[in-house]
Amino acid sequence: MKENKQKAGTLCVQAGWKPKNGEPRVLPVYQSTTFKYETSEQMARLFDLKESGYFYTRLQNPTNDAVASKIAALEGGVAAMLTSSGQAANFFTCFNICEAGDHIVSATSIYGGTYNLLGVTLKKMGIDCTFVDQDADEAEIEKAFRPNTKMMFGETLSNPGVMVLDIEKFARIAHKHGVPLVVDNTFATPINCRPFEWGADIVTHSTTKYMDGHACCVGGAIVDSGNFDWEAHADKFPGLCQPDESYHGLTYTKAFGKLAFITKATSQLMRDLGSIQSPMNAFLLNLGLETLHLRVPQHCKNAQIVAEWLEKCDKVAWVNYPGLKSNKYYELAQKYLPNGLCGVLSFGLKGGRDVAIRFMDNLKLVAIVTHVADARSCVLHPASHTHRQLTDEQLLEAGIAPDLIRFSVGIENVEDILADIEQALAK
Ligand code: PLP
Repeated sequence: MKENKQKAGTLCVQAGWKPKNGEPRVLPVYQSTTFKYETSEQMARLFDLKESGYFYTRLQNPTNDAVASKIAALEGGVAAMLTSSGQAANFFTCFNICEAGDHIVSATSIYGGTYNLLGVTLKKMGIDCTFVDQDADEAEIEKAFRPNTKMMFGETLSNPGVMVLDIEKFARIAHKHGVPLVVDNTFATPINCRPFEWGADIVTHSTTKYMDGHACCVGGAIVDSGNFDWEAHADKFPGLCQPDESYHGLTYTKAFGKLAFITKATSQLMRDLGSIQSPMNAFLLNLGLETLHLRVPQHCKNAQIVAEWLEKCDKVAWVNYPGLKSNKYYELAQKYLPNGLCGVLSFGLKGGRDVAIRFMDNLKLVAIVTHVADARSCVLHPASHTHRQLTDEQLLEAGIAPDLIRFSVGIENVEDILADIEQALAK
């Protein structure tokens, strides 16, 4: 059976590493910075991108490549690469498309780190970003576009607001303006949503979250659908469609076709900016991926039960989880993620910010950590922690109330999670 026809669970377990006769059954860690060649000429051909092969792990490593190709198969893309973190994945994606003088249109409700990257750090590099309300109608969002706009960005499920992106709407707007749609699919994972099926062109991940799933390694991934026609808008994307002087005048789209985007990101950006994922982390990530299809449904099941319990609790002021019928995003969630959302939900307690902090301090099983989306249940107060650099106005724009508790429901027995919430609320 062809790999791209196999179901997600089979891909989670088996895609990527295909051992030949007598080779290890389990993906080995190629813990080597470098690779040996018989002749100088062979190595030279690799440097010229005339042949593919490994020569230095900052550019490519067999362990990383096997894991990247598993993620590409899961997302239904043509190629993928691993990065040292989710931040690096989003930065590389933007910088592989844009250069100084360019402009990005992004949803406002995104992870705080990405908001900073787009709104502050890229600005210092001459790349501007306009943030838009992802729920606004198409005409309103289109007002953000400029002649120098080069990409659109959003998160399938936003962190921490768990807002559902209308991917088809974003894709329609992006394509109308001749630019690709990049979707960060970290929270949904390809188990619950495959953004390429809805028109997204490039998908990014913080593999640190559900993909690893055990909170043991920071990492990122970029996947290209191969669907965006860079050449059709060649004037907008000189980096991909015009000769690269640092590669003897090679033009990525001409030389690599559908693989142009990932080849450029690997051979040019990784070469110059160096944010490779360590092969050991890629090995651990692969172990996480082997159970992704089992863990994600359990996270979703537990989160739905916790959300419904909180909604009925009289000490709770509000609950935000798009699996609840009362949620503004319920319909969109049913459309894009009919099998489940993610384990992350948010809620506020009656009594506001101080009560929220006291409640969190009284939790025993559920820990306060700067993380989401791993096997262990955890909480965080974004206004005091991850998003503390944002003003109150920016917090509200990003859909984060000052009393918001972000709860990442793990895969423990849900009765024990509820018991912990109950005892902390009683205090
Ligand atoms: N994208 C999303 C949706 C995230 O939630 C995060 C981190 O929480 C990132 C990107 C950044 O990933 P990393 O922490 O692996 O750099």
